[in-house]
Amino acid sequence: MLGIYMDTKFNADQKADSDQLKGTDRPLQLTPDLAAELQGANEQLELASPEQIISWAVDRFFPRLTMATAFGPEGCVILSMLATIQPRTPIFNLDTGYQFQETLELRDRIAEKYGIEVELKKPEMTVEQYEQLHGGPLHQTNPDQCCFDRKIRVLQKAVVGMHAWMSGIRRDQSPDRAQAAIVGWDKRFNLVKISPLANMTKSKIWKRILREEIPYNPLHDKGYPSIGCLPCTRQVDVGEDERSGRWSGTGKIECGLHSIEFEQGGGI
Ligand code: SF4
Repeated sequence: MLGIYMDTKFNADQKADSDQLKGTDRPLQLTPDLAAELQGANEQLELASPEQIISWAVDRFFPRLTMATAFGPEGCVILSMLATIQPRTPIFNLDTGYQFQETLELRDRIAEKYGIEVELKKPEMTVEQYEQLHGGPLHQTNPDQCCFDRKIRVLQKAVVGMHAWMSGIRRDQSPDRAQAAIVGWDKRFNLVKISPLANMTKSKIWKRILREEIPYNPLHDKGYPSIGCLPCTRQVDVGEDERSGRWSGTGKIECGLHSIEFEQGGGI
């Protein structure tokens, strides 16, 4: 199976140029044929390696394939794989204005090591303008609205013209994420969603990072297993859930990018 995926990726550059010439930003429609194709791919790729899954995604969707990364360990692993599979894949970061400096510096370290320039996508308003409009930091009083304005709206614009996006979610991260498909339809954003690391464990991710010296956020060594925006991320004690430091004490557990309730898996 690997041979099929790896052979086809070498045609991706030619395909990209030809697709770009067509110049259409039409969103992908979930037709019955596409639904059947996604269901078949999801079943076929369930036991595939992350590299095989990414190669399939590149062959099928590049250059209309993208990924939003916050430079978590999983995103960094996918970037390291893309460096050999298709480094021209357009990748972006939702630069809310509230990110840790360490996260922004990691973007530069990834660019230096892999030659992949992750594009920073920013909200229309700066942090100063946004806080002035709302009479203070909205993340303290209405984090859902803040995430919607500074992440989801930016994402919606960033994926115009895209047909598929990859995510670094793992099924062992949360009961919600345990339902993630390898290939499915993300009805919130009208994109095919591919999760090449769904079957990887936290321990396998970190073994790979250390073995291959993949750059990672130094905050992970300081008690931050999951890193988002600075005001909404805290250190986690030993034994706490790895995502318990995100929006701690608010009841909020996701920013809305990867809510499984909006996704349909292989069984479309
Ligand atoms: S994580 Fe916090 S600061 Fe960042 S966009 Fe969401 S609410 Fe705002």
